[in-house]
Amino acid sequence: MSFLKEFDKDIFDLCEKELERQTDHLEMIASENFTLPAVMEAMGSVFTNKYAEGYPAKRYYGGCEYADGVEQLAIDRACKLFGCNYANVQPHSGSQANAAVYAGLLKAGDKLLGMDLSHGGHLTHGSKPSFSGQNYSSFTYGVELDGRMNYDKILEIAKAVQPKIIVCGASAYAREIDFKKFREIADAVGAIMFADIAHVAGLVVAGEHMSPFPHAHVVTTTTHKTLAGPRGGMIMTNDEEIAKKMNSAIFPALQGGPLVHVIAAKAVGFKYNLSPEWKEYAVQVKANAKILGEVLVKRGYDLVSGGTDNHLVLLSFLNRDFSGKDADIALGNAGITVNKNTVPGETRSPFVTSGIRIGSPALTSRGMKEKEFEFIANKIADVLDNINDTELQASVKNELKELAKNFVIYNQSTY
Ligand SMILES: *Cc1c(COP(=O)(O)O)cnc(C)c1O
Repeated sequence: MSFLKEFDKDIFDLCEKELERQTDHLEMIASENFTLPAVMEAMGSVFTNKYAEGYPAKRYYGGCEYADGVEQLAIDRACKLFGCNYANVQPHSGSQANAAVYAGLLKAGDKLLGMDLSHGGHLTHGSKPSFSGQNYSSFTYGVELDGRMNYDKILEIAKAVQPKIIVCGASAYAREIDFKKFREIADAVGAIMFADIAHVAGLVVAGEHMSPFPHAHVVTTTTHKTLAGPRGGMIMTNDEEIAKKMNSAIFPALQGGPLVHVIAAKAVGFKYNLSPEWKEYAVQVKANAKILGEVLVKRGYDLVSGGTDNHLVLLSFLNRDFSGKDADIALGNAGITVNKNTVPGETRSPFVTSGIRIGSPALTSRGMKEKEFEFIANKIADVLDNINDTELQASVKNELKELAKNFVIYNQSTY
């Protein structure tokens, strides 16, 4: 970043500080990851200069021959990766992708049924502060007190609500989602089945989580979570009519010019996802989350649903005298970044909560395996066992900084 250093020292210094933070701390927010330097290079490429409104070979601007090449490659790789027929790689984010699904398939006021935000769903699944809860008539299903979805119950709710669209997929759910069952529920009430796999897409493409295809009518994902690509979104389907609707919903309905540099980076990310190393990575992500959960249970902590099938664990403090917020702060002081989260049967406010969500994707990208996750899980338990011990937090922070030194993925020459 020598140009940046020379031209804008303020931003350069903040980039350096952030690199240091990402290196020294243990990133365990379940939705975060470290992307490849090659992905970052594509994101910083000359394609940021190009307007390419429209789609490959159907653009509103001249000079798009290479932008076409980039977008077509991203589409082809996405279809190969997910085993589907159509992909729109232009959504700027996961939320934009979801907005397009609704804009393309619903009318204002139509009924939408999604997972409750406080049970692990996403804001864009019909939550009231989101456009999805404001522009549409939204209804929710949740999890049982055991932390699992009950598909019979979801069917009952769907029958009572008669939604136009059923959204499945979650941001904080540690168990595999049964997309086949969701399709049966959707068929039983004549609804469109929409799977938002933002969190588990990286596991899906490795065959480490059930695929939403061929069950879902339409699928969205982010590209920056378990997929470890650049920040962005994507929409996929096997249905030609839906594909056309998605394309016009993204452009011209919701977005203007696509971020061709990010689409180039998405294509690079997909190349990584298509490689044999990817399967190994996804298997390791799950193995690391599993041992993390096992150690925490051994140390006396409650996991929502008792364990994990995927890349995250949800810890419940319903029976403890400290909150998710307290745990988040204590672990933060110890150099471990997590986030507070509501749990089934929640008794505290959404700003305080009784749980935390801990994920394995980012540290797995740094090369950590079971041995390191076992060590970290014990440190997490030490900190939580002594939640007010700031001296312990400081010493754990130093220990983890030493551990992190052996797992550096970026350095000054990377970018
Ligand atoms: C993260 C997430 C999104 C939104 O992604 P953004 O890129 O942050 O807009 C949508 N759905 C689910 C299930 C998510 O977890």
